[in-house]
Amino acid sequence: MQSRYDLEPDDLAALLEDQPAYRSRQVFDGLHKGLRTPEEMTDLPAALRGRLTEVLPSALTEQTRSVSDDGETIKWAFALEDGAVIETVLMAYRNRVTVCISTQAGCAMACSFCATGQSGFRRHLSTGEIVEQVVLAARAALPRRVSNVVFMGMGEPLANYDRVMAAVRRLNGPLGISARRLTVSTVGIVPGIRRLTAEALPVSLAVSLHSANDVRRDALVPINKRYPLGVLADALEEYVETTHRRLSFEWALIEGVNDTDTDIKELAAYARPLRAHVNVIPLNPTPGYLVRGSSSARVREFVDELNERGVTTTIRATRGREIDAACGQLASRANVKVRSRSTDAGSDEVTAPEGS
Ligand code: SAH
Repeated sequence: MQSRYDLEPDDLAALLEDQPAYRSRQVFDGLHKGLRTPEEMTDLPAALRGRLTEVLPSALTEQTRSVSDDGETIKWAFALEDGAVIETVLMAYRNRVTVCISTQAGCAMACSFCATGQSGFRRHLSTGEIVEQVVLAARAALPRRVSNVVFMGMGEPLANYDRVMAAVRRLNGPLGISARRLTVSTVGIVPGIRRLTAEALPVSLAVSLHSANDVRRDALVPINKRYPLGVLADALEEYVETTHRRLSFEWALIEGVNDTDTDIKELAAYARPLRAHVNVIPLNPTPGYLVRGSSSARVREFVDELNERGVTTTIRATRGREIDAACGQLASRANVKVRSRSTDAGSDEVTAPEGS
């Protein structure tokens, strides 16, 4: 067990079998509804509190906390038990509070323009490591409540399917976040999309499209070679038909790469039959990708043209760019295996690799 949040109610009951029957429910509720650590559960006998503090560890050790947007955006770098580092972002808005969480340390998808992709894959996160990110962010957000969780931090959620879905169920049930306000974002892992189609929980699905042309998408999102656009469209059509849930496409606008009139035509033709919503993301700078984002005038034109063609398109507001907390900027030196460098726990080298 990496985290106290790795335990399902039955596991907790087994751990507390020497206690009165109501105890495990009390502890489970304290962890989830109360967002409390075992030490803080003052409704428990002191001896039990002490024992739980020892046997129910926290998986996440805060390494750094960076704040931007007048305190409305907070990014944490958390060290895990084995020295891997993940990042979590809390974003407070007028009408909602969103947490962006990681599902893997690093990522194996190798998208060229994404800092996490540039840093490579280290390992999957456990369910508890995923859930605990939301719990720690929710504590920091108090007295406001977390209303939305986006699986858009480090890693590819559908490549860690079972642990991610167990986390989804926990966030939805015990933590009380509505399933529609849980958004899983994927590069387009078709078998994962097919499994998600069969799930009863109506989570929202976002697909990182970035190009609706196989030659160009192969270069930007390498998994496209395995699950090309046609195959992806078939799975998405079935998802939309079966679930009647909203589908959205993410599109980071890169100057001269995917912001041309041809791109608009191809995207409109791809998105319209799926009734997908397009979320345009102004490209955020990353150390390993030196191509520029589209100008703000071009971003505007791109959005307007799509809307005119009947594809609902909005611009994703950028948060936390100057603390490397924006889309595609999450990376951590501690996860880089290819280059030799110190990964001492407790060191504070947690931001993007040099050059940022
Ligand atoms: N692996 C999943 C979850 C990550 S979501 C996925 O790719 O969907 C993070 C989003 O930010 C993805 O849509 C990703 O393509 C996008 N992104 C990556 N690098 C970016 C950058 N430099 N600027 C803007 N968006 C970027």
